[in-house]
Amino acid sequence: MRKFYDFNVQFNRMGAYYIQTVFDDYVIGKVIRIFDPHDHLLHHFAKENRTQIIEDNKMLTQATAARSLNNIVLSVIIGMLYVVVGIKGLAGAISIGAVIAYVGYLQQVIGALTTMMDTIGTSASILKGLDQFIDFIEYPDAPAKGRLPIEKRLDNNYEIEVDDVSYRYPGTQEWALRHVTLQFKVGQRLALIGPNGSGKTTLIKLLTRLAEPTEGRILLNGIDIQKYDIHEYQQIFAVVFQDYRLFAFSVADNVAVNTHKDPARIQRALTLAGMWDKVDKMPKKTETSLTKNIDPAGVDISGGEAQKIAIARAWYKDAPFIILDEPTAALDPVSEYEIYQKFDDLMEKKTAIYVSHRMSSTRFSQRIVVLDHDQIVEDGTHAALMQAQGLYYRLFEAQAQYYTADKIKAERKNADAAYAID
Ligand code: ADP
Ligand code: MG
Repeated sequence: MRKFYDFNVQFNRMGAYYIQTVFDDYVIGKVIRIFDPHDHLLHHFAKENRTQIIEDNKMLTQATAARSLNNIVLSVIIGMLYVVVGIKGLAGAISIGAVIAYVGYLQQVIGALTTMMDTIGTSASILKGLDQFIDFIEYPDAPAKGRLPIEKRLDNNYEIEVDDVSYRYPGTQEWALRHVTLQFKVGQRLALIGPNGSGKTTLIKLLTRLAEPTEGRILLNGIDIQKYDIHEYQQIFAVVFQDYRLFAFSVADNVAVNTHKDPARIQRALTLAGMWDKVDKMPKKTETSLTKNIDPAGVDISGGEAQKIAIARAWYKDAPFIILDEPTAALDPVSEYEIYQKFDDLMEKKTAIYVSHRMSSTRFSQRIVVLDHDQIVEDGTHAALMQAQGLYYRLFEAQAQYYTADKIKAERKNADAAYAID
């Protein structure tokens, strides 16, 4: 039975993934319809399911056989004891009364033995499963160990220092960040630039204590951030995550997220994010639910519109630090331009980190930090980095070239020539 439980952990995990995610989430439905017309996923799942049932049956049969053997041995011993008592009774060594008494004792002892064997067997297999559960419950919540309260400062005078930080994701060998050192002061606007996979999002996770540095430390006003109470610490950040998610609740709930809902501020947040006109036209305005997951009268919005609501949510939180991780990735050029126009109002006097691989976004930042392959390779103003002609310069030139009107016109001409219709 222990083998049985061990074996089924992985299979149940897989089954749950197929049933609750792959075959259930309507977002995946699009991929399945377009890319899997012959139901390969379904067949694969059915095949795995059959393998599991066959293996399970084998193990259950083995377990039953072991239990039967146990019972047979026990019955033989009992039989032999009866024979001994019977012979002694017949031979007159013990009285008939004693035979009856012995038989009664034997029955009680045997009953107790059988129950004991069964209990030991069952608990050995069940405890194994319980062990995993207890390990899980007792899994240390490392980030939550700090107790220090955060100093509430009206002047928002917070300073962050990243001190020789390295980070490796659990279970991986590669460093996602290596020896990163960085300081920034209140009110500074920092652009974090770098190619895909260079560690930008990882750095944001470390700053917001969604992960703990493997080596080195991060200081807030001179104190290691791990020492602060995690819930208080995370309150000084508002973040638009690269993989942000909205709830199937109302627009207002999505913007205010369980805090006091101030209609005027919600309107202002949605206006700054360029989403107010759209929300104003929704059937119940800010009380309209997003998606039909819960509310049949809910509305579905596009990816870019969802991202705008995520931006509104970050502004609404009014935290001293605002972090935007590729916040305009899903926006069309006009929407992105409009957000940039309102950038000063969005950021206000906050300390802001703007993560992007779009070079045009650096225009709002006095300071640009360039990450490449887990390290900071450049740090300075736009002018200084352009002069240095390093990675920043190359990225900037590559994108500028890609976007110049002349280049687009020339390519257009080539394409027209290539596909010319006689
Ligand atoms: P960026 O935001 O700059 O595109 P990330 O910080 O997301 O890059 O990722 C940096 C590197 O860390 C990636 O190359 C990836 O290999 C690794 N990584 C990111 N997320 C995880 C994760 N959850 N588990 C393991 N490795 C990860
Ligand atoms: Mg990223």
